[in-house]
Amino acid sequence: MHSPKKIAVIGSGMAGITVASLLARDGAQVTLYEQNWMPGGCSSSYWRKGFWFETGATTLVGLDEGMPLHRLLQETGLELPAQKLETPMQVLFKDRLITRHQNLGAWITEAELHFGVAGQRGFWEECYRISLQVWGISSQQLAFPPQNLADLLSLAQGFAFGQLAALPAAFSTVEDLLRKHGLLQHREFVEFIDEQLLITAQNTHREVNMLFGATALCYTNFGNYYMPGGLLKLVEPFVQYIEQRAGEIRLRTAVRAIHLLPNAVTIETAQETATYDTVVSAIPLNNLADMLAPGREKSILRTKLLPSEKLSSALQLGIGFTPHRSYNCLHYQIHLPKGLPGLPSKSIFLSLHPASDVSRAPQGQMAASVSTHWHNPAHNLVENRAELEAAILDLLEEKDMILKANINYLHSSGPASWAKWTGRKWGFVGGYPQYKAIKPWQMMGARLKKGQFYVCGDATYPGQGIPGVVLSGLTAHHKMKLDGVI
Ligand SMILES: Cc1cc2nc3c(=O)[nH]c(=O)nc-3n(C[C@H](O)[C@H](O)[C@H](O)COP(=O)(O)OP(=O)(O)OC[C@H]3O[C@@H](n4cnc5c(N)ncnc54)[C@H](O)[C@@H]3O)c2cc1C
Repeated sequence: MHSPKKIAVIGSGMAGITVASLLARDGAQVTLYEQNWMPGGCSSSYWRKGFWFETGATTLVGLDEGMPLHRLLQETGLELPAQKLETPMQVLFKDRLITRHQNLGAWITEAELHFGVAGQRGFWEECYRISLQVWGISSQQLAFPPQNLADLLSLAQGFAFGQLAALPAAFSTVEDLLRKHGLLQHREFVEFIDEQLLITAQNTHREVNMLFGATALCYTNFGNYYMPGGLLKLVEPFVQYIEQRAGEIRLRTAVRAIHLLPNAVTIETAQETATYDTVVSAIPLNNLADMLAPGREKSILRTKLLPSEKLSSALQLGIGFTPHRSYNCLHYQIHLPKGLPGLPSKSIFLSLHPASDVSRAPQGQMAASVSTHWHNPAHNLVENRAELEAAILDLLEEKDMILKANINYLHSSGPASWAKWTGRKWGFVGGYPQYKAIKPWQMMGARLKKGQFYVCGDATYPGQGIPGVVLSGLTAHHKMKLDGVI
């Protein structure tokens, strides 16, 4: 009888959790390293003064049939008590409240009401059609981007002629799509689109590839869910699943270096050096590059790295407050009429929990997360954080969201906090943004060294947050299977 493969996974964000769960299911002996004292990375929750705040992500998609989280649940047999949201999101845009309905027809009617009839129907129908294709193809083609013959054969097996219909969009950007529907000169609409793209694709219409842009813009046209208790409750069942299958989660254990030997991989932590058959890195590529000795793998990585100037961190506020009103939606994007002092953001994102979830806050109170992009975190030092926080609180009051007098607890985090919480270089978060110079097939492939070393996470599958990183974990696992690792 063979002894089980010893496999290490670095990072317990949703990418690492995905791959570790599937490997544990397959009978591998999995060790999951996590530098933090809690699992989940950017999709988790933490407790402060009676409130459970979300660490980073607040919206959850990917649970609909054929989407990445749905597949992960199917493969593991786990169930989640996620609650589907009636209204995925509202946007406070200038003096308007725009409701992003899930139903495509209802959303087009809403969009036409706010931006005029011309071009809207065609634009959104095309976006939706492309996003259906993207989710369909990505779930059938886990060997993408191909890196060797086995990947090409796997892609050939999953090939259907209908997939070719998505090809033209791979060469275009959202700018091209706007132009095609006569909307590129519609300044207000483009402003709206750019802020929507930033939430999920981390970039704006000139840079975002049409394939990913369409899925980003139709994010709200798929099932959006709430996890009672917060996103830690998304992570915990998988942690238990891994542990029940003889897997080990080593919290507070940062990996410092990785050595690729001819037939094994060693991992160095402050406590020990351990040897594995295979290692999967689910941390950002920038962190990984710093851990590898010069060699072929490091050279490959270097060609894919984005510098701080092309990345963002986030300013995030955790606010515990007594609500003065009821809310008919959990997620609000609020456009900024006057900008913010120190950051070039044009919108903030406010997320609440349903009043019915009493586990998140003391009686009669609520926990809110507010976030906005913090571009180029290595070099952009905001001098007056207090002024920035004050501007956001003023805006929340002006928009009748949260009254300052009702705030019972407040803290804010910037790049330094993110670097500490997630260990991510420069505290950059949200993943690699979409850039038009990087075509889908030029994304980082999951296989760095056949049989020994694989990568996943939000620096490999740009944008799309949790569904994207779960997909990256599924992809890494698929390539490991093709390579005979499991
Ligand atoms: C403010 C904010 C809002 C967001 N909103 C949404 C949203 O609403 N919906 C959505 O889907 N996505 C959202 N995202 C994006 C999403 O949260 C992330 O893209 C995704 O969770 C990243 O998962 P990951 O596994 O790739 O990385 P991470 O979650 O960063 O996980 C990496 C893990 O590796 C650990 N680690 C790092 N270095 C080491 C080391 N040397 N040794 C051991 N462990 C290490 C970290 O501690 C971390 O736990 C948001 C992100 C932010 C920051």
